[in-house]
Order: sequence, then C-alpha cells, then structure tokens
Amino acid sequence: MKNYKVAVLAGDGIGPEITKEALKVLKVVEERNNVTFELLPALFGACAYFETGDAFPQQTKDICDSADAILKGPIGLSHEESKNIPIDKQPERGALLPLRRRYNTYANFRPVSLPKELAHFSPLKAEIIGEGIDFIIVRELVGGLYFGKKETGVDDKGQRYVREVLEYDEGQIRQILVQAFKLATARKKVLHNIHKSNVLKSSVLWNEILEEVAVDYPDVEVINMLVDAAATYLCLKPTQFDVMVMENMFGDILSDQGGGILGSLGLMPSACIGDEKAYYEPSHGSAPDIAGKNMANPYSMIGSVAMMLENSFDMADEAKNVWAAMQGVFADGFSTADLSKPGAGVNMISTQEFGDKVVEKLKNMPTV
Ligand code: NAD
Repeated sequence: MKNYKVAVLAGDGIGPEITKEALKVLKVVEERNNVTFELLPALFGACAYFETGDAFPQQTKDICDSADAILKGPIGLSHEESKNIPIDKQPERGALLPLRRRYNTYANFRPVSLPKELAHFSPLKAEIIGEGIDFIIVRELVGGLYFGKKETGVDDKGQRYVREVLEYDEGQIRQILVQAFKLATARKKVLHNIHKSNVLKSSVLWNEILEEVAVDYPDVEVINMLVDAAATYLCLKPTQFDVMVMENMFGDILSDQGGGILGSLGLMPSACIGDEKAYYEPSHGSAPDIAGKNMANPYSMIGSVAMMLENSFDMADEAKNVWAAMQGVFADGFSTADLSKPGAGVNMISTQEFGDKVVEKLKNMPTV
C-alpha cells in the first residue's frame, strides 16, 4: 500500500467549493486503488491573510514542504475587495508567486482540450473545431516580467513612474524548452514556439537557445510563431496546435484564451512542475462573481487531481479514468452553468451534482 501526503490549499472564492468535489473524486481513487492519501489542509491566499496577516503563512509552508504534492484551489479577491489588503500582501504577490519561487515550479502544463462530441460548448463553429481541440500550453512559470525587479517612484519632473524588469538567463530558458521538446516527442512531434523576437530581446535569446536545444530533438518539427499571430490562430485554426511553448506572461494570457475557445475557464486544469516538487491548480482565478452559489464548474479542479495522479503518483491509467468520467457526465447531456447556453436544451447541474456524477461514473469503471 502506498501512502502519499497531499497538501490541500482550498483558496478563496470558488476554491473551497471546487476543492470539495475534487477531494470526493480523490477519495474514490483511494478506494479503487492500493493507495492512501493523507490530506493536509492549509490556509493560502486572501483567507490566510485575513486569518494570520500573511497570505502564505509559515505553517502552510511547513505543510507544503512535507507534502508529496500540493493541490491548490484558486486564490484572490474581486478588484474592489483586493484594496483591503496591502499591495505586496495581496494573494498573487503575497502567496502565488512565492509558492512558485519556493518550489521552482518552472514548468506549467495547461491542457486545452475539447473532444468533438463536446464542440457545442465552444463559441467556435463546429467546422473550426473539426475532430476536436487537443493541445497543451507549456508556460515558463518562474521567470520573466512577473518575477523581475519592480520599482515605483516619482521622477525629477514630478511624474509617477513604474519600472518592471523582464529577466531570463539561458538556464531558465533551456530547462523549460527541454520540457516542451520532451512533451512534443511523446505526442505529435510538432512544437509551436511562441515568441515576440521582432520587438523583445528576451525572445531573441529564447529563440537562440531553442535552436541549440532543438539539435537534441531532430524528430520534432519546430514552428515559430509571433505571440500576436498565435492569439489570432487560436481562434481561427486551433487544431493546428499540439504543444505550444512560451514565456511566463504570454502563457498566462494565451492560456486564458484557450479557456475561451473551449467555452469556459472552468475547463482549464494545470500542473506546475519543478525538479523537486509539483503543485496542481486550475488555470483560472477565484471567480468572485459566482462564489458561494454552487454553480462553479469543478472540472478544472478535478482535472488538476487527474494531472496530480499522473505526474506525482505514477497513476496514469486512473488519471485517464478521471478524465473519462468527467467527459462522460458532459456526454450524458449535463452541463454546468458556465457551459449552458440559453436554449441549448442542456440539463444544467450544480458544482456538487457534477462532482457526484463524476464519482458515480468513476466507481463503475474497471480498475487495472
Ligand atoms: P477568474 O478566472 O476568477 O474569472 C474569470 C471568469 O471566468 C469569471 O466570469 C468567472 O466566473 C469564470 N470562471 C472562472 N473559473 C470558473 C469555473 N471553474 N466555473 C465557472 N466559471 C468560472 O478571473 P478574475 O475574475 O479576473 O479574477 C478573480 C481573482 O482570481 C483575482 O483576484 C485574480 O487575481 C485571481 N486569480 C488567481 C489565479 C490563481 O489562483 N492561480 C489565477 C488567475 C486569477
């Protein structure tokens, strides 16, 4: 019997609601397999700030340090509520970026996937979706503008100014590109390199390193694409993509666009992988507009569990079952509120009902 420790950071807004459903699924995984998960709940985000004065308290750090993997719900407050927390202690600056830095989780994998059968969820026309959308955004997660030095002040003309530094060294670039090439090798052997080398020197260096890394992966075809063009092609021809690699901020923005072409950010799980530690979280935020209403889509959080099973616990087959169970619920004609279009005739279910139906499906699936 294997025993894993999982730190559970339920987070803010819809975080606790969707985490509850994800843990129901994890419980079934435990029952079906020769494994136990010791859950270690901890405060993280705005809830932690209001309780302890720190969005990433020492106790949470200790729990995460001791865990085999971290399952994290979204954090953050609405624009207005954020003003109740000092800028540097706000959830992203005070918790999320420090979490990523602490464990050097430099590789963020964000699957953007919609089978043909679920094409009706997408705002794109069926002919654009064709046989289905299925690509992965590989986002560099601990460098670039988000982690550079920041300075604000008043200049000698009395004007307020801000300076934020975009920094990468070649080691940081190489390590994420190696991950992307490995993934492309295991999939369709096509890698879209998303950059902005016509303007940014950081992209020029990025592309230089890419050419060096590419030598070790001669089977992978590299397609270079400017980030602005990529934004267009995600809408016009998303099926051309299989693995896309990009720096931190490009990945933040384009992966939300990925959620848009699927029909909802609620369909976007992710894995954040470092050499020593990994954590798993939905790509989206805490959705304050729907928090507490039992209407959030837990697919992103349950999908993050599936990614944890595969990446941290070597349970790829059970991860596939979890994906199949979730897609099976949709295929049965049910839909969460975010995916329900007026007049589409779908049977709308709550956060909790979606979790219950996934659990039922998973229980009925054969184990290996
Ligand atoms: P958001 O991602 O929370 O929400 C954008 C839209 O998507 C909203 O309409 C929301 O209702 C919808 N949505 C998101 N997830 C959903 C789900 N699972 N089911 C159904 N609908 C869903 O973005 P925002 O409103 O701009 O940000 C809210 C807060 O989240 C901010 O404080 C932001 O800083 C934070 N944030 C946190 C993370 C993170 O924890 N990794 C990521 C992004 C944003």
